[in-house]
Parts: sequence; structure tokens; C-alpha cells
Amino acid sequence: MTKHSIFDTQALEAFRKEHKLQPYRIRQIYKEIFHNFVIDFKEMTALSKDLRNKLEESFEIISLEVEDVIEDDETSKFLFKTADGNVMESVLMYHFHTEQRTLEKKLNRITLCISSQVGCNVGCIFCVTWKMGLKKNLTREEILSQVVYANNYVKNKYGKKVDNTWYSIRNVVFMGMGEPMLNYPAVKKVCWFLTDTNYFGLSRKRVTISTSWVLPPLKQFLADDLPVSLAFSLHSADQKLREELVPTIAKYYTIEKLFAALDEYTDKTGNKIFYEYVMIKDKNDSRELAHTCGKLLQGRPAHLNLIPYNQNPAIDLEESTEARIKKFKDVVESYGVPVTVRQNMGRKAKSACGQLGYEKVQGKIIQKPCVDPNCDCKKC
Ligand code: SAH
Ligand code: SF4
Repeated sequence: MTKHSIFDTQALEAFRKEHKLQPYRIRQIYKEIFHNFVIDFKEMTALSKDLRNKLEESFEIISLEVEDVIEDDETSKFLFKTADGNVMESVLMYHFHTEQRTLEKKLNRITLCISSQVGCNVGCIFCVTWKMGLKKNLTREEILSQVVYANNYVKNKYGKKVDNTWYSIRNVVFMGMGEPMLNYPAVKKVCWFLTDTNYFGLSRKRVTISTSWVLPPLKQFLADDLPVSLAFSLHSADQKLREELVPTIAKYYTIEKLFAALDEYTDKTGNKIFYEYVMIKDKNDSRELAHTCGKLLQGRPAHLNLIPYNQNPAIDLEESTEARIKKFKDVVESYGVPVTVRQNMGRKAKSACGQLGYEKVQGKIIQKPCVDPNCDCKKC
């Protein structure tokens, strides 16, 4: 028998009625999943054994298989397989701080970067994910399963905090594989689950949709007023250069049209927008372009996030130098726009922005090491 997802609220309600359960039983199940981070019905000891068995027969909590986990000091990257055989990734990022007095490194907060699609077809020239092409849109259950699984992983890895609650994910960002606006119906439902206090209960500030922008779903997003933060992948305030960096969509959804929609959003909601800007050496990191960017964002409720480009052997681009990034930051700040430089995380494990799908792409582009010492194919 095919199992329902635990996020199928109608199926769960039908199950409740069929088994004559009081509504508080459903709240107990949710508490186990969203507060105690349990992912196995057998471990839900607040429920009777009989009920646990019945739930097990009819429902699944995680609608993905875990293929692999790749760790480095500051990230855990999960390779998930969907029931239809596609593989995609999400990344946990552990942010530490050093205590001034003891110089001890302490875990401060945890962010999960989730995927909304398998692959991507937007085609930003600096991102390895699009080289996989678009394989499929993830379902609501597949996206939410990433969060449920990762919370359970964090619980097992770090245990309890001093206040006796479990360590858990504080922020969820749609910065993994895929363009969330191109899978908007599922993403919208996911956002409600993430922010609803009956489920994950994360605040607006702690859920961020990152988008390279596709105008029609954006208009819908504005109308829906989803309770999440918005990050817009700008990369260049110069129209011509943006068309070069994001060739598939930038010429249709011009900076002028996009900012008309963005202004409408900020006017209506009063929310600030985070702008992301991948810093690529000799491409979009000049002083002149910093002025163009500063002028565009000046007077708008904006925060610019500069992302040092994460290099990939599959792509012939380089990261800006630290000095160049600093200059760019100073220029944009001179327009009164707050700017931060994103900390690099997960490069060793190929878990950083724009590196998801790396192993797949690498497998396609870089062949297995050649055994012939005289081989001159230039790929091995
Ligand atoms: N498709 C969405 C979300 C996924 S990409 C978007 O483009 O916004 C998440 C972020 O990673 C985006 O800001 C994107 O521009 C950035 N990114 C992509 N490739 C990168 C790379 N190689 N180095 C650094 N950041 C990259
Ligand atoms: Fe797709 Fe985002 Fe990568 Fe562009 S940066 S190809 S939109 S995942």
C-alpha cells in the first residue's frame, strides 16, 4: 500500500476520524516531529503501540531516501534520492562564535539550505547546478522532508542546549538547487508549513526565498504576501552585464521591470529585500559597477550581500580578491546601503552556493582518472 505523507493533512484527518482519535492525538504527533525531531513512529512513546503501528502502516514522515552525508568542519551535505530516482542535495551550515573570555568555540546557530528543484534551467553562467539541467520540480513533501530529516540529524549530532531544548535549525534558506519561483505552488505550501506554529513555527525573518527572478510567479508571491524574507540574486546593476550572467531570463525580466515589481513589494509590505551579488573577478567587481549598484539600491529598503564566487573546475571563472570585494563594499556603502560579505562555508565538501550537483557535473565533464600516462585528452 502506498503511504501518505504526514504533511498530507487531509489524509491525516481522515485517519483520525477512521480511528476515532481525539484532535489532541494529532497535536501529539506534530509535537514529536516538530519539537522532539522524531522521524520514526516507533519512537513516539507518547502514543500507544497500537497507534504507532497503524501510523507506520499508513504514513511516512520522510519522503526521501538518504544516499550519503558529506561533512566538513562547518557543514553537512545530504544527498537525497526521491522515489522517482532523482538525486538532490541540501546543506546544514553550523555557525560558531568564539567566547571572548574562554576562547572556546561555541555553536551559535544552524542554517539549512534547501533545494526546490532537482537541477535548474535558469542557466546562470557561474552556477554548476544548471549544468545538470532541470530534472524535476520537488514536491511539497520532498522539500519539507529535507527540513525534518536535517533537524533529526542536528539533534543526534549536537544533542541538547543548556536550556534543555534540542539544538535545531534556526534559519531555512531556499539557496540549494533550483529556482524556487519556478516551482512556486509547492514552495508556497512549504512556506506555510515552515512558518505555521502548528508545524515548524519559524518566523518570517528565518525563512528566506532566494530567487534569480521570474516575473509572473513574483507577482503571485506579492499578492500572496507569504510570511518569508526575500533575497534577490542581482549580480549586476548593469542591464547588459546581467544579460550575460543570467542569459536565459535577464533580457525579458529587465532590471527596470524587476525593480518596478520589487518597489511594489516593499511599498506594500514594508519589508527589506536582501540583494545577492556573486563577486566574480574581472566580471562584475569593478569600482564603476559598484557605483552603478550603489545608485540602484540607494534610498530603497535594501541590504546587499556580496558572495565571494565559489570556484568550480567545470566553470572558467575566478573569485574576486579580498581587496576588490572590500573596495566594492566601501563604494556601495557610500550610498547609504548596508553591505555584508558572506562567509565562505562548505567549499571543501562542495556544499557552497553554486556548487550543488558538483559531483554529478564533475562526473559528466571530468572523466575518471586515466590509467595511460601518455594520455593527452586534457580531461583526465
Ligand atoms: N536559484 C536561486 C536560489 C539558488 S542559488 C537563486 O539563484 O537565487 C542560491 C545563491 O547562490 C544565489 O544567490 C546564487 O546566485 C548563488 N550562487 C550560484 N552560484 C554561485 C557560485 N558559484 N558562487 C557563489 N554563489 C553562487
Ligand atoms: Fe539556477 Fe540559482 Fe543556479 Fe541560477 S544560481 S542556475 S537560478 S540555482
